[in-house]
Amino acid sequence: MKPSAFDYLRAETTQHALDALARGGEGARVLAGGQSLMAVLNMRLAQPQLLIDISRTAELNTVRVEDAHLVVGAAATQGSVEWRATLADEVPLLAMAFPHISHFQIRNRGTVCGSVAHADPSAELPLVLTALGGEVVLRAARRRRVLPAASFFQGMLMTAREPDELVEAVRFPLQRPGRATALPNSPRATAILRWWPARPP
Ligand SMILES: Cc1cc2nc3c(=O)[nH]c(=O)nc-3n(C[C@H](O)[C@H](O)[C@H](O)COP(=O)(O)OP(=O)(O)OC[C@H]3O[C@@H](n4cnc5c(N)ncnc54)[C@H](O)[C@@H]3O)c2cc1C
Repeated sequence: MKPSAFDYLRAETTQHALDALARGGEGARVLAGGQSLMAVLNMRLAQPQLLIDISRTAELNTVRVEDAHLVVGAAATQGSVEWRATLADEVPLLAMAFPHISHFQIRNRGTVCGSVAHADPSAELPLVLTALGGEVVLRAARRRRVLPAASFFQGMLMTAREPDELVEAVRFPLQRPGRATALPNSPRATAILRWWPARPP
């Protein structure tokens, strides 16, 4: 099956994308990496009139540390965050999660914010963001709000995002001193459990 007809707009700037979202209303959809959206369109589970492509919006392609958070912009791919040299020290749970997300070709195109916006309950990144107490930055043409991940996710493929809002960024808290992270039953978890009683935080 092929998608139904739609108009395509490549957003040059964040404001360009926000203005298009405001004009397009419920008939507009953001296109980030397309890894989930294209399947939805091909199956005609959604039939938007307008796709707003943010994948080459340079000002959204950012990954930075700010206010004790790793802040990932809407156009930053999962791969670009995964390959950040300091990630394992900054947000170790995120570094551990990436290899579990499909294979690298998908992570090379799929964005962190796209996975969060899509809100698939089986996806790794919404889980990591919620478990760490992270935040979602939502921006519309004339307003901006920051929601805790736990309030943003409302159910399967359902979020608190309004149709005119872009997930501008997501904010993962940096690992705090005295904390440790490990996947259950891993050698690292065993090592931490051995170490922990001897050195309380
Ligand atoms: C073969 C395959 C295997 C996969 N396996 C896994 C897996 O094991 N684990 C996992 O977690 N994921 C998996 N995924 C999903 C993958 O991680 C996607 O990249 C991700 O779900 C969506 O990111 P995207 O950038 O491609 O978003 P898109 O597909 O472009 O968009 C997804 C949805 O979010 C909306 N959206 C995107 N960005 C924004 C934004 N900034 N603001 C507002 N709305 C936005 C779109 O309008 C659309 O509704 C898999 C995908 C494929 C194709």
